[in-house]
Amino acid sequence: MDHDVLIIGGSFAGMSAAMQLARARKAVLVLDIGMPRNRFAVTSHGFPGQDGQSPADIKARLREELSAYPTVRFHDGAALSARREGSGFRVSLADGGEVTAWRIVLAYGVRDSLPDLPGLAERWGASVLHCPYCHGYELDRQPVGVLARDEKAFHQAMMLPDWGPTTLFTGMAFRPTAEQVQSLKSRGVQIEETPVAELIGTAPALEAVRLEDGRIIALAGLFLAPQTAPSSDIAAQLGCEMQDGPTGPYIAVDQTQAITVPGVFAAGDLASPMPNATVAAAAGVMAGSAAHRSLIFDPELISI
Ligand SMILES: Cc1cc2nc3c(=O)[nH]c(=O)nc-3n(C[C@H](O)[C@H](O)[C@H](O)COP(=O)(O)OP(=O)(O)OC[C@H]3O[C@@H](n4cnc5c(N)ncnc54)[C@H](O)[C@@H]3O)c2cc1C
Repeated sequence: MDHDVLIIGGSFAGMSAAMQLARARKAVLVLDIGMPRNRFAVTSHGFPGQDGQSPADIKARLREELSAYPTVRFHDGAALSARREGSGFRVSLADGGEVTAWRIVLAYGVRDSLPDLPGLAERWGASVLHCPYCHGYELDRQPVGVLARDEKAFHQAMMLPDWGPTTLFTGMAFRPTAEQVQSLKSRGVQIEETPVAELIGTAPALEAVRLEDGRIIALAGLFLAPQTAPSSDIAAQLGCEMQDGPTGPYIAVDQTQAITVPGVFAAGDLASPMPNATVAAAAGVMAGSAAHRSLIFDPELISI
């Protein structure tokens, strides 16, 4: 095998996994196409020691730290497919090459799909947001909205008054129960049933939304739950078990980030219902150290 461990995806989860393996002097190859999920945001918040830095700067810093370890290599390109080969794995690359390793860590994240609404896509990550902990503080207690896709919007609308006066736009997507209406009122949330027609203001900032009946409601931020899907089908090719999450499917992992396929580990948004850079990094630490332990303690995998 060319490498001890192959890591597919070199962002928060993948580079954290690589760091554990690098410090155990394992031969690691990190494959990455440089499109982390938070690339649309100018700043990233809440990552320890890096609050308010740009996502690109944080990633560059992580990569610089890893580059100091002689057993780590990077390949800037996509993994296309993976299959078991003897007791290891063979992965095909977009440039036509192939690489092999004894273990794999899947850390290629998810991609978001957004509602098709005029003015929405160009504000994603700036004033159209999914996570109040990540970007709610910067809205400085100005009016915010929640765009419902389904009943999960209730939960988001209950949270958001801690960041600003909140309107829940239910549109056609969701009709709150009488009990939910009561709870929303107790939090001061306005409920607006008329669908949103478009977002207005100088993008990427948001000034208001225009409703289908022509009314305009001033807002500094609009929150929604995107639909998510794995960024690659490599997990499916390997036969990984998936489970349903609040925004889409994610890989089922155990407490060590091992998956149902022996020798394969998964970490980050791809394998978690909670999208957060620090959580992804912590899972990467676990996956990297579990892959290392597996090389030592699971010799039976060698004969699979
Ligand atoms: C707009 C936005 C803003 C956010 N802001 C914050 C914030 O402020 N704070 C916070 O904690 N969280 C934030 N998040 C969540 C955060 O981005 C994710 O939790 C985090 O990026 C997950 O890390 P990851 O390593 O699992 O995946 P990602 O960071 O998405 O990285 C996956 C990597 O895999 C690569 N890749 C994909 N497919 C392949 C392939 N086939 N071959 C090789 N490489 C591949 C990608 O290019 C990418 O570099 C935000 C999310 C969004 C959408």
